[in-house]
Amino acid sequence: MTQYTLKQASVLLQSKQISAVELASAYLAAIAEKNPALNGYITLNPEKTLAEARAADERIAQGNASALTGVPVAYKDIFCQTGWRSACASKMLDNFISPYTATVVQNLLDEGMVTLGRTNMDEFAMGSTNENSFYGATKNPWNPEHVPGGSSGGSAAVVAARLAPAALGSDTGGSIRQPASHCGITGIKPTYGTVSRFGMVAYASSFDQAGPMAQTAEDCAILLNAMAGFDPKDSTSLEREKEDYTRDLNQPLKGLKIGLPKEYFSEGNSADVQTALQNTIDLLKAQGAELVEVSLPQTKLSIPAYYVLASAEAGTNLSRYDGVRYGHRAAQFGDLEEMYGKTRAEGFGSEVKRRIMIGTYVLSHGYYDAYYLKAQKLRRLVADDFQTAFARCDLILAPTAPTAAPKIGADASPVETYLSDIYTIAVNLAGLPALTLPAGFSGGGLPVGVQLIGNYFAEAKILGAAHQIQLNSDWHGKRPE
Ligand code: GLN
Repeated sequence: MTQYTLKQASVLLQSKQISAVELASAYLAAIAEKNPALNGYITLNPEKTLAEARAADERIAQGNASALTGVPVAYKDIFCQTGWRSACASKMLDNFISPYTATVVQNLLDEGMVTLGRTNMDEFAMGSTNENSFYGATKNPWNPEHVPGGSSGGSAAVVAARLAPAALGSDTGGSIRQPASHCGITGIKPTYGTVSRFGMVAYASSFDQAGPMAQTAEDCAILLNAMAGFDPKDSTSLEREKEDYTRDLNQPLKGLKIGLPKEYFSEGNSADVQTALQNTIDLLKAQGAELVEVSLPQTKLSIPAYYVLASAEAGTNLSRYDGVRYGHRAAQFGDLEEMYGKTRAEGFGSEVKRRIMIGTYVLSHGYYDAYYLKAQKLRRLVADDFQTAFARCDLILAPTAPTAAPKIGADASPVETYLSDIYTIAVNLAGLPALTLPAGFSGGGLPVGVQLIGNYFAEAKILGAAHQIQLNSDWHGKRPE
């Protein structure tokens, strides 16, 4: 019963072939069996889950259900949720039971979706492997010696392991798309401002965007419909009319212009990644799409620009964790100053501290112009590249990551790890929507995904193209043993 896609589960629930309680119970049983080894969920509360499922069944019985009522979902630990520990996988918030709920979670609760639990992640969403979690690394369900990617690695792993039909993630520099790629699932980061950030723990506020992760593009479209919308509680939320993100699912690929950025097909990619790209290119051609070469020349500048800007915003956002109002507080201290210092030294992990130090440095007097301001200018150039490219194509096809998932403990240097974000980060600098979908396997049997990038508000087009690819292939249907 835990193998269904979100769409299939929705149909079975609405036609009363299964109940929400049966479905949630099946997932809870599978989680109890498999999660201890996987470590994809870090907080579970079966009583709460079943109470939500019972309420969903009542709603279905009364005839006022939506398509999502009773469908279970998992939340990355970055989303605040009333009554749940919302720790962002940090020791700093290990004792934090949220008194309020993120808008995007509330939107799904309002639909009657059932919370399965909260998923593991890199602390404060900083990382690409999920190894930076206070709660320990998540395993890749395809091979437990490998990472699931990050920072939404727990969400990707539980969907791939069929311990949830869908999950929410967040993407500041690739954290939905890269773990989706490493775990063989589909995930989309929407245009910046489409999904409310209210109640989502802030990492780099001008980049952070939540999105759905599921087996299929169709499921992502259905979820995004429920997630997106203007929120007066988020000052960067876009005031636009509600959209139907499923509207292009049946649009054929014929005539669609797909741009292939020449800088992205480099020898830096592993052979597995090149094969996944070629698989997709062949399929697109066979379906009548037109392929054109485009150029994104500033891509290589996106890594330094991102790590300057994201760290600057992180350093600022994380100044709130001072031990005064909530979260961890050092047990022993002499005066206020020492309380701040000890609290932060104890509460943050080393990657988070590294980002705070970089952020503080680039914002400091004398370095602000040389680093922060310069990076802002690069951000504009990177965004301009995409506009030039989109004058020639509808969507861009790109790798998601240069390799399949690395081994746990591979112990790459921080800079090496940052460099592996090369294909995802430019999208966040520009604020564009992009989706990862599975497109092949590595020699070692690990999934490899590719990305479809669209212009602003092209989510429906991206999801439509991805759905058409999935109708004509079965990489997304494969699941780990
Ligand atoms: N790997 C990137 C970072 O560590 C992206 C993280 C994210 O998207 N949350 O900043």
